[in-house]
Amino acid sequence: MTTAAEAARAILTSLHEVMASRLGAQAKLNQVVEVIGESLDSEVCSIYLLREGMLELFATRGLEQSAVHVTRLAVGEGLVGTIAANIETLNLAEAATHPDFAFRPETGEEKFHSFAGVPIVRRERAVGVVAVQHVDPRRYEEVEIEALQTVAMVLSELIANAELIDGEDALGPLPQQTGPGRLHGLTLVKGLAEGVAVFHQPRITIEHVVAEDIEAERQRVYLAFDKMRDQIDRMAGQAEFGVGGEHEEVLETYKMFAYDEGWSRRINEAIDSGLTAEAAIERVQQRTRMRMRQIDDPLLADRMHDLEDLSNRLLRIVSGQLGTAATMGLKGDAILIARNLGPAELLEYDRRRLKGVILEEGSLTAHVVIVARAMGVPVLGRVRGLRGVIRDGDQLLLDAEQGVVDVRPTPMLAEAFDNRFARNRERQAAYAAMRDLEPVSLDGQRLTVMMNAGLRDDAAMVAVTGADGIGLFRTEFQFLVSATLPARERQTRLYRDVLDTAGEKPVVFRTVDIGGDKVLPYLRHTENDLDEENPAMGWRALRVALEREGLMKAQARALIEAAAGRTLNVMFPMVTEPWEFDAARAVFETQIAFLRSQKKQLPEQIRYGAMLEVPALAEYLDELLPNISFLSVGTNDLTQFLFAADRANPKLAERYDWLSPGILRFLRRVVRGVAGTGVDLTVCGEMGGRRLEALALIGIGVTRLSITPAAVAPIKELVRKVDTREIAQAIEAWLAAPPPSLRLALQAWADERGIECD
Ligand code: PEP
Ligand code: MG
Repeated sequence: MTTAAEAARAILTSLHEVMASRLGAQAKLNQVVEVIGESLDSEVCSIYLLREGMLELFATRGLEQSAVHVTRLAVGEGLVGTIAANIETLNLAEAATHPDFAFRPETGEEKFHSFAGVPIVRRERAVGVVAVQHVDPRRYEEVEIEALQTVAMVLSELIANAELIDGEDALGPLPQQTGPGRLHGLTLVKGLAEGVAVFHQPRITIEHVVAEDIEAERQRVYLAFDKMRDQIDRMAGQAEFGVGGEHEEVLETYKMFAYDEGWSRRINEAIDSGLTAEAAIERVQQRTRMRMRQIDDPLLADRMHDLEDLSNRLLRIVSGQLGTAATMGLKGDAILIARNLGPAELLEYDRRRLKGVILEEGSLTAHVVIVARAMGVPVLGRVRGLRGVIRDGDQLLLDAEQGVVDVRPTPMLAEAFDNRFARNRERQAAYAAMRDLEPVSLDGQRLTVMMNAGLRDDAAMVAVTGADGIGLFRTEFQFLVSATLPARERQTRLYRDVLDTAGEKPVVFRTVDIGGDKVLPYLRHTENDLDEENPAMGWRALRVALEREGLMKAQARALIEAAAGRTLNVMFPMVTEPWEFDAARAVFETQIAFLRSQKKQLPEQIRYGAMLEVPALAEYLDELLPNISFLSVGTNDLTQFLFAADRANPKLAERYDWLSPGILRFLRRVVRGVAGTGVDLTVCGEMGGRRLEALALIGIGVTRLSITPAAVAPIKELVRKVDTREIAQAIEAWLAAPPPSLRLALQAWADERGIECD
């Protein structure tokens, strides 16, 4: 069987001859369709190019010649238009069955059944389409599609040189605006920032696609790989954040890709097919991008972004076009703009000048976002169409709280932003000043306000916010940012660091809550895991941990060793029936017995707790409470189960209110069930971090909250303005005879007392 490389190489050799000939551009295209059609044994081969905003049939073999320069399709129209609009490949056994199929009688294409087309891409935009068609209804093979994709790259060079397409200026999807503009996006790291727009990457232009000397190209890539690996190693060595932390893991993943043999092999194969080093790297990158679009797993997609980052780096090295905005240095306060950014690329910027980041892509779990959070740089992601609106050097106001960016703002807008910015800073300063104030209510009750954390750097927020400790440390975060299962020693190191940072204050470690929608590529139950219909109620959390005993054992050992000589608070997520708690605890006890036999230093005390997230557990309190030291109510999960409303479904996000009698009565029953037993009860879901909700929780008798760090100061402030007896009375009355809206009643109650609650 012909390999993809051989097929592409055969075509490239012929194309090379065509391109080197003295023929005019149109004649070259006419020959090109013949070469491709023959090589792929296709009756039809056609090239459509973008002219005056329309995709025009420029050359064909097999369709009616009279249709050339007559058949024109809008971008998005028909199969060809769809390919150009989505920059995607189509491979269809029966073209007419595709919903976007548009029949053009003048072409005489009705007798052809199969259809495959790939976009001709220049500067990340489709400037044309090359398509093949066949009478037999058969899908084209992978090698044929790959050959066609390689050809499309060559064509991109040919048509640009021959100026066959619309000028570069006309390619922009939107005309450049000059007045003020506003773009929307998704807040990935909260915050406000002001600065000038700096594009991360000046575009790299690939001058030559077809190789003259394959051996020489191979050598160029080889040297470039060497250089890139050197750079990554150096960067890992000097990462500004010091050793340890999730950044170390990020860079390790990065390194894994840099040394990935599969990647370099694919590039070499592309060179074998006759491409230059640059074109081969770009070709492999294109393929990766295409795959990425089909991947629905955000975790995997993030890792693909890392690979893309490295690919850009390699391309810059090999082409000698080395400058990114980072290497040229930032001149003043800057807001960085990129399609996507790798963590290593972000680390190259001057932290004093980098004020914000805007990404066209990006997701909450992307490595770059984790790094930006640690750098304290706000990030707005998924900003569409920015290239038509923002120009290099534009003044930008980034509001990664409301999820917008204002471009070239009017003086009035800028002033309003500056005021907000100043108020924000004041508020932050006021909250910082509250650090040492205790959350004592008007009637003298000392409540406990702890914070939630998951990353090593979050732990430092205990000191910044003055929280009473970490009430929920989500240990699965370390697993989520790693490319492989974190080794036990690494887990120990993280837990020890967190305990050191928290100092005297308690830290509650929750054992891993993975599985369900948080399936890790390296931790699969069966091949079908990803297809669970109800992942939130599926094979997750303790259910995974008890089955994968090795995982639980390693984590238990890591936690016990990390807490040697101190108190270890450990809790188990998603306990549904008491026996699960007993089984999890037994895993810890076996590890303790083992470590004792080894004469290892043990924790001074181990306190076990359970999370109440599954409603059924509330009916087992009599059995459970004697065995635990604390119970932590995870309202995020609990309320989704009580309402039967998926917490991740945006359509349901606003439908049910946490401030409903149904939820509050349930929680009150739990609070009453625990009262007087000596077991600590904490609420650790997002609910406790919102003022009105916190007020209601205090009203039903909750005295311990664990919330997001940013909410610690606002909730302390709230507690200091509340008389707990008074709110308890009000809540009791409302739960006995619910008003039409408990939220509105509570809001009015707070307003009357001057307690700010929005
Ligand atoms: C919860 O479910 O409320 C909780 C705190 O756990 P997580 O949000 O991590 O599921
Ligand atoms: Mg939960």
